[in-house]
Amino acid sequence: MTEKIGIMGGSFDPIHYGHLAAASQAAWELGLNRVVFVPTNFSLGKRPQACAEDRCAMAAMAVAKDPRFSVSKADIERGGPTFAFDTVSDISSLFGPCELFFITGMDALAGMEKWKNWQKLLNMAKFVGASRPGYSPKLPEKLKGRAILLPVPSLAISSTEIRRRVGRGEPIDYLTSPLVCSFILSRGLYGGGFVHRVN
Ligand code: ATP
Ligand code: MG
Repeated sequence: MTEKIGIMGGSFDPIHYGHLAAASQAAWELGLNRVVFVPTNFSLGKRPQACAEDRCAMAAMAVAKDPRFSVSKADIERGGPTFAFDTVSDISSLFGPCELFFITGMDALAGMEKWKNWQKLLNMAKFVGASRPGYSPKLPEKLKGRAILLPVPSLAISSTEIRRRVGRGEPIDYLTSPLVCSFILSRGLYGGGFVHRVN
């Protein structure tokens, strides 16, 4: 049987439980054999705060215990600005014949018409729009009937909020994996200063 592979792109600056819950729900609902998380190199108009190596390391530690999940450096190794079209092309050639699902939150999907080659991309992978608190649960007009709407448990977590909390010295426990929390604080990412944690 053809393998069903989910692709989840993002800056993952840092990865958090919102990403993981959406990927897990997609895997279960759509019967995916695996989900590959692909950290961007950078998006046009949005430079990540943490370096690519740190974002990959955090993604890798967050997914390590889940055999369905893995991390690919395809976007980072290609370099330059990241476009979903290139991400899906590269993952597609890496895995050979398979059925691809490109998973995004509804906020990201809303801007889909501005993506490079978005119409070609629709023929390369099935689009999956994961619901996200604070964003319209409706598919953009052009995607109606062409994408899968995926209700996921509402987790009002964003990387922006995690970075903000770290910068102000507020806790980030239970918003992302304990390993990621420790990594952020011990490396002093996001302006948090160096904090020694016991767990
Ligand atoms: P930032 O605040 O820096 O934009 P983010 O939390 O939106 O970070 P991204 O790395 O931009 O995270 O998102 C990667 C993908 O995950 C996007 O498709 C986004 O819509 C989706 N996503 C992020 N957080 C959630 C969430 N809480 N629920 C559902 N989908 C999410
Ligand atoms: Mg985002």
